[in-house]
Formats: sequence, structure tokens, C-alpha cells
Amino acid sequence: MLQTHRKRKKNRIRAYCNKCRHEQVFIKMEINHILHLVLTIITVGLWGVCWVAICLGKLIHPWRCEHCGWHWPEFGIKRRFLK
Ligand SMILES: [Zn+2]
Repeated sequence: MLQTHRKRKKNRIRAYCNKCRHEQVFIKMEINHILHLVLTIITVGLWGVCWVAICLGKLIHPWRCEHCGWHWPEFGIKRRFLK
């Protein structure tokens, strides 16, 4: 139980959200590979394209703002260009 809690905590960070214009909780994207594998088999490999796209998306933007879904957390960067 303690291990589960620790794992969940690891997938959550606090960072500045550009959309909310406020510090928000960001959650790490989790991919259900088993579900995608099943979908790929059902669609005769067609879903594999979506699967790859989702995996690439996670590589580029692994974090999601809990509040608005924004994918670009800013870590301790002060905003200078916009007021
Ligand atoms: Zn946000």
C-alpha cells in the first residue's frame, strides 16, 4: 500500500502552467500498453499507428496539467515576456 502511494506521488509534480497562469499539479501520462495491444489485434494492426503516435506524444510531452490539460510545465522559469 505504501509502495503504491509512493509510485503515485512520483508521477505528480508542481510546476507553472502557461494556460492557467498559475502553479498547478502536473500528472505524468501513463500508457496502458495492454489495452493498446488488444486494440491493435482487434483492428488488425490499424490501431498500431495510434499507439505509436501516443507513445511519441508521451516522449515529447510527458506531463499534463491536472486543471486544464496543458502539456508544457515550466520549472522555476520566471515569465519575463508576458504580463
Ligand atoms: Zn493548467
